[in-house]
Amino acid sequence: ESATLSRIGLAGLAVMGQNLALNIAEKGFPISVYNRTTSKVDETLDRAHREGQLPLFGHYTPKDFVLSISKPRSIIILVKAGAPVDQTITALSAYMEPGDTIIDGGNEWYENTERRMADASANGLLYLGMGVSGGEDGARNGPSLMPGGSHKAYLNIHHILEKIAAQVDDGPCVTYIGEGGSGNFVKMVHNGIEYGDMQLISEAYDVLKNVGGLGNEELAAIFEEWNRGELESFLIEITSDIFRVKDEETGNGHLVDKILDKTGMKGTGKWTVQQAAELSIAAPTIAASLDSRYMSGLKEEREEAAEIFKREGLEEEINNVSSVDKKRLIDDVRQALYASKICSYAQGMNLLRAKSMDKGWGLNLGELARIWKGGCIIRAVFLDRIKQAYQRNPGLANLLVDPDFAKEMVQRQAAWRRVVGLAIQKGVSVPGMSASLQYFDTYRRGRLPANLVQAQRDYFGAHTYERIDRPGSYHTEWSKLA
Ligand code: NAP
Repeated sequence: ESATLSRIGLAGLAVMGQNLALNIAEKGFPISVYNRTTSKVDETLDRAHREGQLPLFGHYTPKDFVLSISKPRSIIILVKAGAPVDQTITALSAYMEPGDTIIDGGNEWYENTERRMADASANGLLYLGMGVSGGEDGARNGPSLMPGGSHKAYLNIHHILEKIAAQVDDGPCVTYIGEGGSGNFVKMVHNGIEYGDMQLISEAYDVLKNVGGLGNEELAAIFEEWNRGELESFLIEITSDIFRVKDEETGNGHLVDKILDKTGMKGTGKWTVQQAAELSIAAPTIAASLDSRYMSGLKEEREEAAEIFKREGLEEEINNVSSVDKKRLIDDVRQALYASKICSYAQGMNLLRAKSMDKGWGLNLGELARIWKGGCIIRAVFLDRIKQAYQRNPGLANLLVDPDFAKEMVQRQAAWRRVVGLAIQKGVSVPGMSASLQYFDTYRRGRLPANLVQAQRDYFGAHTYERIDRPGSYHTEWSKLA
């Protein structure tokens, strides 16, 4: 009987599940699959057949599915996050036995995972919340995997995960993240960082287009060139591709210009910003990216506002900027993008560390940077440098003060200020780049005007203040002395 049992199971055969199941089968692990709507099971079987007679077996009921997997069973769930996960767990766990493992691969809120983990444990089941990044292509050909929860459950399947994950120079893009919902939390912050990267790239595009006057073909060439240097990354690469695509619908112009300027979102960016606020971690670049998505959604309002201000004599892009040196602008924007990105990653990493300390997860920041080097949407050459920075000093307070990054910030700051300054003069909004610059300028200053805020707080609320020259806490009757 055991000869016919699968090594692992996967339930939920939409984009992610179908592709991940095929990836697992292709690596030689017999896999059982199941989906609530059974036509997706047939679809997946069809693909497994077409893509090389892969060892993938379809099942049409939760019972047949669960019983087709060898014990202790490991079952990956890839359904819509939230209630569908609970419903799927209920359906499957009826047939699961103590020692079996549930692995939720969705973009789940980490506290849901911790709740389910406790329920599972009451039934003797093990649980992993595993972040999966890389979209459809990653799932099929090698994602970045962020499994957290039961270490024992991880050990049951780690060799499968290591085979199916993206492979980079220093190993597979998977590591045991930590206990509880840490895998989901790390994936959430990964997505927040992704929001930041995408926003910063879109601002670079905006400045080059509306300050520099560059066209799509030039932009494609610039991003292609950038992708051969320190900015080399998946997002820069696909951006270059995007600028080349013509509009097939009308046979006229580039597709990028025909796309409505309204960004969608599914929640992980918002959660990241909420968590940063909860933990008192400044994450202005990621917050600016989220705000930009919200404001992009106000398309009709923005168009009306543009009309109103135009009637008042203000054009969308202000033409008071003396002619720009294109070549220099391009080089400046490249440097501004890179410096802004470092600040954004510093914020994400500090959020991860704060949460890790709060929850006792023991996250290894260098290792997280390493598993993001391949497979995922934020994969970039630059992540290896982040990995090295945390390897040099695991207690690094902020990426910005790593000696190598500090040097780079100083080298790029003049160009960065020119770009942000020019954009501000021209009225082209660069919320991400300026948030990053403000983060840098705030962090690197030994003395801030916070003394005045403390004085005000003490004046109206007797909140007391500390002095720079002697210990203790002080209160002053300000109004009497003024
Ligand atoms: P999805 O569109 O999020 O979800 C569709 C799947 O959920 C289908 O298999 C569907 O089954 C199932 N489902 C929905 N409600 C259900 C319920 N009440 N009971 C049982 N099954 C239910 O699928 P996806 O895009 O493949 O994403 C899966 C997970 O991975 C999500 O958490 C997503 O956020 C995450 N993720 C997605 C990407 C991506 O690029 N798409 C990347 C990383 C992570 P039916 O066919 O029966 O409706």
